[in-house]
Amino acid sequence: MLSIYNTITRKKEEFKPINLPQVNMYVCGPTVYDYFHIGNARSFIMSDIIRRYLEYKGFNVKFVMNLTDVDDKIIKKSIEENKDSSAVADHFTKAFLEDIQKLKIKKADIYPKATAHMHEIIDLIQKLIDKGFAYSVDGNVFYDVSKFDNYGKLSGKNIEELISGARIEINEEKKNPLDFSLWKKAKEGEPYWESPWGKGRPGWHIECSAMSCAHLGETFDIHAGGNDLIFPHHENEIAQSEAANGKKFVNYWIHFGFLNINNEKMSKSLGNFFTAREILKLFSAEAIRLAFAQTHYAGPLNFSDELLASAEKGLEKLNNLAEKLDKEIKKNNTSGNVRAFDFNKFKNDFESAMDDDFNSPQACAVIFDFAREVNRAIAENENLNVKFYLDVKEFLEKTAVGVLGILDFAKSQPPPDDSLTEDLTNLLIKLRTDAKKEKNFALSDKIRDELKSIGIILQDGKDGTTFKVIKK
Ligand code: AMP
Ligand code: ZN
Repeated sequence: MLSIYNTITRKKEEFKPINLPQVNMYVCGPTVYDYFHIGNARSFIMSDIIRRYLEYKGFNVKFVMNLTDVDDKIIKKSIEENKDSSAVADHFTKAFLEDIQKLKIKKADIYPKATAHMHEIIDLIQKLIDKGFAYSVDGNVFYDVSKFDNYGKLSGKNIEELISGARIEINEEKKNPLDFSLWKKAKEGEPYWESPWGKGRPGWHIECSAMSCAHLGETFDIHAGGNDLIFPHHENEIAQSEAANGKKFVNYWIHFGFLNINNEKMSKSLGNFFTAREILKLFSAEAIRLAFAQTHYAGPLNFSDELLASAEKGLEKLNNLAEKLDKEIKKNNTSGNVRAFDFNKFKNDFESAMDDDFNSPQACAVIFDFAREVNRAIAENENLNVKFYLDVKEFLEKTAVGVLGILDFAKSQPPPDDSLTEDLTNLLIKLRTDAKKEKNFALSDKIRDELKSIGIILQDGKDGTTFKVIKK
């Protein structure tokens, strides 16, 4: 039985989709004004692991992630760079899709864009005005929070608390300080769309209500995002969708904990801000995924170089095993000894971990225990039947590859039979050894890191340095 911690009920609940085996899932995606950072990457990777596990369990998942492509930050950037705001959004949408792929995140079924859903957004705002939940003032439209019973039910706060706690800009046009924008009147030079209230653009919250409903229906199974979105973004999505449709909006709310860097909040001004792109130059996607999966999605995660280096080290065990499996499978020894091995125990352990609110740290521990036991079996028995290796590979394909995405069999191939690569790499290894002898560690580290960024991993051992080619 799969249970999920539901933010809105503050309880772990048995997961019951509306329309078995279909699961409709919506995750708040990026605002495409910059390359996404490693904190965003955590939310994207953990939602990918959740989606993959639902698929592993046989659900038919429809996965939607929106792209916010009209927003203050995009407009600001377009002014700074003297470009059209759609050119900024297009550039970073393309970059987003490239980085998602490099992180081995499965493509969403749909990436709806706000600018392509203006009709739905305008219709939804009109519906809210017609039902008395919204009001227009001089080309702006606001949601009237006082009209919605239970405003604050997701964040667990009442209206008075929210007013006193929120940093709300003074706006004479609003009836109540918590009222929020559904439609913003166009300012000089900003992109705009025609609407019944004049030229303008939508607020951020209404985009998600309109796009989730357009693609997943008025009530759907799972809505996820970082926990910074609980208030006001998701609270406002509930208020909008439930007021307009008169129905429950979402059955399960999942929120991801924040990623900090060396125990500090990541921010550009602190100089500890990293894009996923930058980190991917230094570490493999599998190491990033393992580092994230080893912390439960809901808790905070402290990110550091050491965390990734230790994930990379942990992965060596799995990669070495994968390499060994491929070699043995190629040999195809059908007359070797058949070895009894309790695959079911590991399968059950993996599933119980993931069934318990997607406990991926426990699931990773099961994979490493499994690898250790397999290595022991291999060490004890030199002449094993190929069936054993095939079964091991199948288990890893389903779990470590299929659900967690921390292993890629295509990457753990032996180095290519290419003598030029070998000679050049050995030459660089020699230069690095010389640099180390001269205590020029900046150069020796640079050689190691640059080789790594093109997929050549150096391994220092007692007898010198060897290398391994990893497919990117
Ligand atoms: P944004 O582009 O800022 O709207 O964020 C896109 C997604 O990343 C949202 O689901 C955010 O909640 C999430 N997110 C932003 N910053 C972090 C962080 N430091 N750690 C984890 N998730 C984050
Ligand atoms: Zn959203």
